[in-house]
Amino acid sequence: MNLISLQSGSNGNCIYVETGDARLLFDAGISGKQAAARLAGFGRDISRVDALIISHDHADHVRCAGIYARKFGVRLCVTEKTLAAACSSHDLGRLGDVEHFRSGGSLRFGDVRVETLPTPHDGADGVSFIIDDGVSRLGIFTDLGHVYGDLESALESVDAVLLESNYDPDMLMNGPYPRYLKSRIAGPRGHLSNIESAELIARRGSRLRWACLGHLSGENNTPELALRTHRTINSGIEYHVAGRYGPGGILTV
Ligand SMILES: [Zn+2]
Ligand SMILES: [Zn+2]
Repeated sequence: MNLISLQSGSNGNCIYVETGDARLLFDAGISGKQAAARLAGFGRDISRVDALIISHDHADHVRCAGIYARKFGVRLCVTEKTLAAACSSHDLGRLGDVEHFRSGGSLRFGDVRVETLPTPHDGADGVSFIIDDGVSRLGIFTDLGHVYGDLESALESVDAVLLESNYDPDMLMNGPYPRYLKSRIAGPRGHLSNIESAELIARRGSRLRWACLGHLSGENNTPELALRTHRTINSGIEYHVAGRYGPGGILTV
């Protein structure tokens, strides 16, 4: 199974996963043009993507979903609540065929199963994902709110993970954000800090081979700081960082 982060962060999220016969996109926070061009850079054709699966209704995850559906014929998979919330705050345009899933339920693409995990983040009906192709399990865990029991169990069950490591607590508290935004980000329905994320990895199962740190804040974090915090707490694990402005390499599990 291969993962390519096309972009990760509050300026837009879009993650590509391919395995067996399934080619999947998770979130549509970058333009259709960018997603198509970045996939083409890896020799992948966006019009061959089987489904676009949306994690939650925030703009950095959903704003371009309609374009992917209209321009490239990508089927949209989303919960009813997330779609209703997204349509009330963004103009997604015509969406074509939409497949609804239930938060906590699974989606099937041939032999590949995508499990969804409800999150306490402040979206209307947010989920994270585990992609299981029968050989490996890959987690895509961002916009998490806080570390909760099901997330720990989910992390123990995966072979690789793209995991949120959003902010450094000192940078956030001493940074330029208004107080309400600082409270929201650090609160139980916001994002995981580098420390929370690293401590979650510390409780990993024996099968976890690599972690790609994602959804890093541009104001309150740096890739170097996130990696340093993680490596202070965890050894013996391969780390990568998903870029805020463009794609990383192909990560295989
Ligand atoms: Zn986000
Ligand atoms: Zn969010």
